[in-house]
Amino acid sequence: MKYVSTRGRMAPQPFCDILLEGLAPDGGLAVPEQIPQVSAQTLESWRGLPYPELAHRVLSLFITDIPGEDLRALTHAAYRTDVFGSEDIVPLRPLHDGMSLLGLSEGPTLAFKDIAMQFLGQVFEYVLTRRGTTLNILGATSGDTGSAAEYALRGKRGVQVFMLSPHGRMSAFQRAQMYSLQDANIHNIAVRGVFDDCQDIVKALAGDLDFKSRYRLGAVNSINWARIAAQVVYYFHGWLRATTAPGQQVSFAVPSGNFGNILSGHIARQMGLPVRRLVLATNENNVLEEFFRTGIYRPRPAAQTYATSSPSMDISRASNFERFVYDLLSRDGQQVDALWKSLAGQGQFDLSAHLPHFAQRYGFAAGASSHADRVATIRAVWDQCGMLIDPHTADGVKVARGFVEPGVPMLVLETALPAKFSDTIEEALGRPAPLPPGLEDLLTREQKVDVLDNDAAQVRAYIAERAQLGA
Ligand SMILES: *Cc1c(COP(=O)(O)O)cnc(C)c1O
Repeated sequence: MKYVSTRGRMAPQPFCDILLEGLAPDGGLAVPEQIPQVSAQTLESWRGLPYPELAHRVLSLFITDIPGEDLRALTHAAYRTDVFGSEDIVPLRPLHDGMSLLGLSEGPTLAFKDIAMQFLGQVFEYVLTRRGTTLNILGATSGDTGSAAEYALRGKRGVQVFMLSPHGRMSAFQRAQMYSLQDANIHNIAVRGVFDDCQDIVKALAGDLDFKSRYRLGAVNSINWARIAAQVVYYFHGWLRATTAPGQQVSFAVPSGNFGNILSGHIARQMGLPVRRLVLATNENNVLEEFFRTGIYRPRPAAQTYATSSPSMDISRASNFERFVYDLLSRDGQQVDALWKSLAGQGQFDLSAHLPHFAQRYGFAAGASSHADRVATIRAVWDQCGMLIDPHTADGVKVARGFVEPGVPMLVLETALPAKFSDTIEEALGRPAPLPPGLEDLLTREQKVDVLDNDAAQVRAYIAERAQLGA
């Protein structure tokens, strides 16, 4: 299996070569040269496999340059019962009205990003060790991604993590989650500024090619293909758990921001998984809902990106969306390249000519929710099934309701646990969400963080002092 770029100008490369890179050299995103196919017979033979085994079967279709037994060891190390709290790793629980919750948030940071990151942590360490090299991960976070990366990479050989976060602007829970890590290879940097300032500093340092190569800077952002591939596994797992015979169809509803999670569902469907609908849910930041409704992709300026009660979906542009457009345009990199050039010039592009294909060929449907919808949905799910869901998952449930069909299970992806977003739970139910077992003392744990000014030079000096250069 080799990977090419969505912009069509990258020589095919194996998985391990694209693993540590960000954008492709031509500015595009890495995608498999062909989507691997899984027959109905193979799919049936996977019934009952434990999650780490299923992960091995699915990922070996995408990763052919790591020996099978090594890859199996990596998936078993990533998906451990003691890390995800149950043997299922990803439990499936019934909701009301033909819907179920696919529990993606049982990992250490209580959000779905753990699933991909835990695998990424294993495969990073493996590839760096095999190559006798090191990597210094530099990132900016407003909460979720940064903590999932830190928990996945803590204590890993050959990796240092430098994570910038906006000083005083994360919730007490998020701060405690990140800053309580005491591992020597985790460096929390609180910047006196907002999230955009953090991101600007990362861009400045990673854009300085001398500094980047001297200090071996890398990233674990949402465009990383290994994350997309690792997420494909739980669509297979969800289908296998929700069906009993070949060919039965299942729909998935996905709370979406950067289009990473649902892109994995799209890939699973392209591989042959019998998926009826991929229901994309947004909050008030409805760039993607608008696209699937109108065919026009219109990223928003920062001033038009709202801070909502499902903050991990507050995006103005969807970084993984280009991979879907590549398929939509029959995998023609030249067309994608031209489209993104026109986007840079005009601020939007129009694919409404392809509108009929969105649902018919690709199974997409979309909807948006508001704060009031989330609060009402959290309350309704609690009243009807005694289950507490977080505001992101509530976006998914709210939009999913409109697409439930008789005889087709609707699996709503649970992208975070309610304890992470307790303010909204309190608003809906009049009391906070309980902390999961083992985290009761999280807020009082000792924290390790360095506060720096909003100044790239200070961060540069900080990294230069602490980066790991040799193997
Ligand atoms: C990241 C995140 C999302 C959005 O996922 P994408 O892959 O960016 O579409 C939704 N919910 C939660 C809780 C998240 O952390």
